[in-house]
Amino acid sequence: MFNSPWRSDFPTLNNIHNTLPLIYLDSAATAQTPLTVIERMQRFYTHEYATVHRGVHRLSANATHNMEQARQTVAEFVKATSSDQIIFTKGTTEAINLVANTFLPTCAQAGDEIIITDMEHHSNIVPWQMLAERLGLTIKIWKMTAEHTLELDDLRHLLSKKTKLLALSHVSNVLGCINPIKAATAIAHQFGAAVLIDGAQGIMHQAVDVQDIGCDFYAFSGHKLYGPTGIGVLYIAKQWINTLPPWEGGGAMIDRVQLPMGTTYQTSPWRFEAGTPNIAGILGLSEAINYINHIGMDAIIQHEDRLIRYAEEQMRSVDALSIYGKRANRVGVISFNLGNHHAFDIGSFLDNYGVAIRTGHHCAMPLLQRLEQSVVCRASVGLYNDSQDIDVFVDRLQRIKQLLG
Ligand code: PMP
Repeated sequence: MFNSPWRSDFPTLNNIHNTLPLIYLDSAATAQTPLTVIERMQRFYTHEYATVHRGVHRLSANATHNMEQARQTVAEFVKATSSDQIIFTKGTTEAINLVANTFLPTCAQAGDEIIITDMEHHSNIVPWQMLAERLGLTIKIWKMTAEHTLELDDLRHLLSKKTKLLALSHVSNVLGCINPIKAATAIAHQFGAAVLIDGAQGIMHQAVDVQDIGCDFYAFSGHKLYGPTGIGVLYIAKQWINTLPPWEGGGAMIDRVQLPMGTTYQTSPWRFEAGTPNIAGILGLSEAINYINHIGMDAIIQHEDRLIRYAEEQMRSVDALSIYGKRANRVGVISFNLGNHHAFDIGSFLDNYGVAIRTGHHCAMPLLQRLEQSVVCRASVGLYNDSQDIDVFVDRLQRIKQLLG
């Protein structure tokens, strides 16, 4: 038996769920927020509330200062060389759409190619499809093997001088596999293609060093990293920050506005952040990073590794339970089905027992097609879970199995 020393930091986990103590195994969808993050945002609204950018009064100047400090905190967390490489967005989805709408239109022409994998979340598929339709680009698929791995040789065969971008996830939100993003980036660069990493499921389970990965873009969401919803980040490599055109127009992103034309734009990061930003969200995200830094990513990785291995071991004792993805390379999530029972039934029964998991296609329909499933159940862990959560979850699965036969 092992506990999480950090569990009591998360007020939601003290809740009663369907008259039972909450067993939260849905962190891959959204992670719970520690009290310090909630208090930071409350402090902003209670004592510091003002909007940012060129405010002459103290509250506004203070909010601007704190927001830019937060940007620095994010930059250091992902090991960017400077804070002007950190763009605040609504989340991973918006960060990917930003790249689709700025980067490729400046360098791709009809007939050029984008490579994505068949294990991507819809957020890392649909923006490229929409763009491909608009610009006449071709999307090529780096298919995973029958063992659900991505082989670099397969990527090599897909790349050509026409490839403008490789977009792939750091960690799959269904299989939990850590993808070979560093090696894939190096190979794509040999062909002159840029690389975007969807870090939505990587950022909370791995220490991310964007310089070491060498990627051009790295996107993630605050709410998967124990921060609030509505805030995300796009890291942009130095060589692109001032060559990419802005994407949304409005206040805060301009240098000088003239009529009828002739407006000039700010430098990065502000040129990509039109309008009033989600200041409370930014401060909350920064506090979440402080929280993680205080614990230390190594300690989190160690705890979660033990947890996920324990969970998989225990789950394998349940008769007729199929697990998707490989044990060796797994972080955070375990997707499964129980016999022929529909995933929604399993999810609903578990909910009645106080256990929160996710069921469905997980915004990864092409991946589910490869698994020959229309829906799967997914249990996912965070730093606050412990072996007792897993024991209760597996015991309830056993009971459901007995009940449904
Ligand atoms: N990519 C992956 C791998 C994800 O798991 C998610 C969230 N489920 C996203 C992208 C999209 O993140 P968001 O909805 O926060 O923009």
